[in-house]
Formats: sequence, C-alpha cells, structure tokens
Amino acid sequence: MTEPIPLRCPVCKAGFRGQCQCPRCSADLSRLMWIVALATQLRQQARTALYQGQYQRACHLSHQALEFHATVAGRRLFDISRIMTTVYIEPLA
Ligand SMILES: [Zn+2]
Repeated sequence: MTEPIPLRCPVCKAGFRGQCQCPRCSADLSRLMWIVALATQLRQQARTALYQGQYQRACHLSHQALEFHATVAGRRLFDISRIMTTVYIEPLA
C-alpha cells in the first residue's frame, strides 16, 4: 500500500508548501497543487460516503485519494473504510 511521502518540487526537491511556485527555484507547481486538491476532494467525498453508510464507495474514494497523494490521515480514512466494508453489510439502494 502507498505510504505517505512528503511532496517535493520535482526540479530542486524543495519541500512543497502548498504554493503554485517553488520558493527556491521558481518552478511552476500548479499541477502539483491540482493533484493535492483532487486528493483532498476525494477524501472529503469518502468521508461523506462513510457518514452515509456507503462503505464500499468510501473505500474506493479513499483509495483513489491515496493513489494521488498519500497522507497519514488519508491512510487512516482508507483503513476505517476498509474495516467498515468488511464488518457491515450495506443495505441495498
Ligand atoms: Zn524547486
């Protein structure tokens, strides 16, 4: 499984601090920002699915988020979703 890896500037390897431009080498980091935002959105959707008892969906969304940007909190969200998927049977929609 994907382990959390700190994001870095692909040009100079400076730590990513959520800015569209690297403060060290001025590289354009807007695509990195987009990936982080997408992963954040997927985790939020996974949390919503979890609250709604849609455990399979939460598991799928949180796994997608990990593929884009692995974080410790994202890993926990995936683990909880996976456990809920195996423990509870979802009602038929
Ligand atoms: Zn840089």
